[in-house]
Amino acid sequence: MAINIETHYHDVLVIGAGLAGTMAALKVAEIGDVAVLTKVFPTRSHSTTAQGGMAAALNNNKAQGEDSWELHMFDTVKGSDYLGDQDAIETLAKDAIEVVYELEHMGTPFSRTADGKIAQRPFGGHSRPRIAYSADRTGHVALHTLYEQSLKEKVKYYPEFFVTKLIMENNTAKGVVAVELRTGTVHVFTSKAVMIATGGGGRIYRISSNAHESTGDALSMLYREGLPLMDMEFTQFHPTGIYPLGILITEGVRGEGGYLVNSKGERFMEKYAPDMKDLAPRDITSRAIYTEIQEGRGVGPKKDHVLLQIHHIGREKILERLPEIYKFAITYAGVDCTKEPIPVAPTAHYFMGGIPTDSHSNVIKDDKATPVIGLYAGGEAACESVHGANRLGANSLVDTTVFGRRAGKHMYDFVQQADRPTVPKDASESTIKMVEWLLSGKGKENVSKLREDMQSLLWETAAVFREEKLLKKGLKDIKVLQERYKNIGITDTGKNFNMQLKDAIELGNMLEYAEVVLASADFRKESRGAHSRTDYPKRDDVKFLKHTLASKGKDGRPELKQKDVSITRYQPQERKY
Ligand SMILES: Cc1cc2nc3c(=O)[nH]c(=O)nc-3n(C[C@H](O)[C@H](O)[C@H](O)COP(=O)(O)OP(=O)(O)OC[C@H]3O[C@@H](n4cnc5c(N)ncnc54)[C@H](O)[C@@H]3O)c2cc1C
Repeated sequence: MAINIETHYHDVLVIGAGLAGTMAALKVAEIGDVAVLTKVFPTRSHSTTAQGGMAAALNNNKAQGEDSWELHMFDTVKGSDYLGDQDAIETLAKDAIEVVYELEHMGTPFSRTADGKIAQRPFGGHSRPRIAYSADRTGHVALHTLYEQSLKEKVKYYPEFFVTKLIMENNTAKGVVAVELRTGTVHVFTSKAVMIATGGGGRIYRISSNAHESTGDALSMLYREGLPLMDMEFTQFHPTGIYPLGILITEGVRGEGGYLVNSKGERFMEKYAPDMKDLAPRDITSRAIYTEIQEGRGVGPKKDHVLLQIHHIGREKILERLPEIYKFAITYAGVDCTKEPIPVAPTAHYFMGGIPTDSHSNVIKDDKATPVIGLYAGGEAACESVHGANRLGANSLVDTTVFGRRAGKHMYDFVQQADRPTVPKDASESTIKMVEWLLSGKGKENVSKLREDMQSLLWETAAVFREEKLLKKGLKDIKVLQERYKNIGITDTGKNFNMQLKDAIELGNMLEYAEVVLASADFRKESRGAHSRTDYPKRDDVKFLKHTLASKGKDGRPELKQKDVSITRYQPQERKY
């Protein structure tokens, strides 16, 4: 079946229309030519599901004393288990304040204090109540605001375009190849700068809070081009996914006074984090839940989850501050949370690792931080690294917008002096071959079966607690799954809106970076933040106060190296909460 090909040019291409991509595109569009490619409709990007809010030291809630960007920085460094790069975290904490006001001035309807200021709620690991929010729909309102502003600035959108390949030559990004899902046409885009803002990859796990689209496509695209991925061992497991589905219940519930209880009705977080209790960081809270379960204090017939109680704060406050959560609990757990607790268990939530970048969001290609010309990354796909080994809640929405904004400004300056590139003639070949093979319907492996096998494998070998035996098993078995993928087949062989085709390409990407997650987790022989090894229970600053860089080796397996951590203000200490 012949595949149609079309070509395009834009100064800047942004891949992904979540908060990071939309903010970057908006900054370029105020002055230049930018297009955004996204595999879903822009406002359906995962950012739209963010509930709890965004952290910024606005100092509007002084219930626990004065706030400052320095305190926000310190909390983030400590939360990261000292693996976050402190220069990047300083930028995050300072710019967060400006970005929240910028979003407000663009029209984001933040919730208010009685005297009309932006309201701020407490969140895990933050020593002050500094989370700006819009009830429990913060991502939704922020993304819609940015999207509307970007339309006003004439950003060109290509919705439902699935990017399959980054075009690179001589350490320079030159464009991308994409499949248009509506028609099956293959498009070759040339540009002076490419920004990757494709979000996270939590869908490699069986239980995840992530959208079905969070399949880390660009992680694998860059990895295939020989670029490294950083700190991929650090997956965040959010403590409160609705049992058993894993759909998220925001930390905002505990921020508003909710708490966790075990089968004996005990508030067990008091044991694990005597000061912060239920507002301890996520790595500590998820481990505490599993410890309760392992020691027999889980609830339900299988004793495999715990309860999140919020009804004591009263129906009126719940409906005002947490209206979506109220509906989620009814829909997905059959529970009226104004009267009874919600069953919860940890769920794969966020990738702290990703594509390494410098402070301008420019992608780097090695441990010496050599930049790749014209290639940028931001949001969850990137690793600046501001979250280190464990992200604090509400620090991602500011990460996306702070670094998206910086990327946009830097790309604009860059394209002023860059020449318009030409792309190699065979740029689309690998995509065409892949699409032709899939549409031939000859493969025998079923996409959903193989995906389930991968998700179970990752859940069983690289979830909250890890150990060498399981990680080695994971590495062996993922190779078998990658071999099975070579025979992948789909039954829908049409070109229009072929969702089986999309699922199959996503699965190929997931199988590639899942191996990097396992290999990086095996490599880091210590426990730090969200990476908890039962065989190496202690943090080892001598050997592992370093980032992990994984590149594709000649034998096709990940090759691992280390990169220095930037430590400017705060020396590593033991983390206590
Ligand atoms: C349920 C949930 C609640 C959350 N709540 C909060 C919160 O309250 N506060 C907080 O700080 N963080 C929160 N987070 C984390 C935060 O929302 C995300 O990390 C952040 O929104 C990611 O934004 P992004 O711009 O990087 O990418 P996303 O919003 O994930 O968008 C990715 C974009 O890339 C596009 N894309 C991906 N692959 C391709 C491809 N191959 N071709 C073309 N396009 C592609 C997608 O179409 C999409 O437009 C939450 C996350 C989840 C899952």
